[in-house]
Amino acid sequence: MLSTRVSIRLAFVAFLLTSCGMPTNEKSVKNFVLSCMNCDSSLHDGFSRIVHQYNSEAGFEALQYTTNSEDANSPVYLTQGLNMREGKVGWGQWLSETEERRSYLPQPKALRTVSYSMRLELDKDFMQTRINSIRESDKTDVRKLFYHETGHGLQMAHHPDPGNVMYFDISGDKDFNLYFNDVRAFFGK
Ligand SMILES: [Zn+2]
Repeated sequence: MLSTRVSIRLAFVAFLLTSCGMPTNEKSVKNFVLSCMNCDSSLHDGFSRIVHQYNSEAGFEALQYTTNSEDANSPVYLTQGLNMREGKVGWGQWLSETEERRSYLPQPKALRTVSYSMRLELDKDFMQTRINSIRESDKTDVRKLFYHETGHGLQMAHHPDPGNVMYFDISGDKDFNLYFNDVRAFFGK
């Protein structure tokens, strides 16, 4: 007999799920399909480009981007005046969904699938003025913000080193190589 249980947990709560219950065969699905939920076509182009660049720096297809929000599992929102909220220009959150197919005798192990996704919220003015800009400083600003918030979406916490992309403050020079080492580790690459 099989029963299916689907649950959605935000952020850190999901860790609790793995420490209780019966033995399981666990499979994780790390398939991030992003889409901006309130972008016009030129902003979509900008996001497609930054996701493409992210993947080329990662060395594999860590993220996907679609202009069709219905095909996405990881929404990106541009919020007007976000920087008025505690002075932050972005928020990144990881999400996971656990589906468990519990089988009883003669197979005592449940099959648990954990699917990971993320939710990003970025300051609208910050992104609008920079995402399609050809100025190097604007491109770097977008890279730092998007990579930082995506890092949270990949379960990364803040890093104490000011030169790390995951330092709480994204101003100043960052070492993107260190960051992508952590991205590759998350995906098991
Ligand atoms: Zn942060």
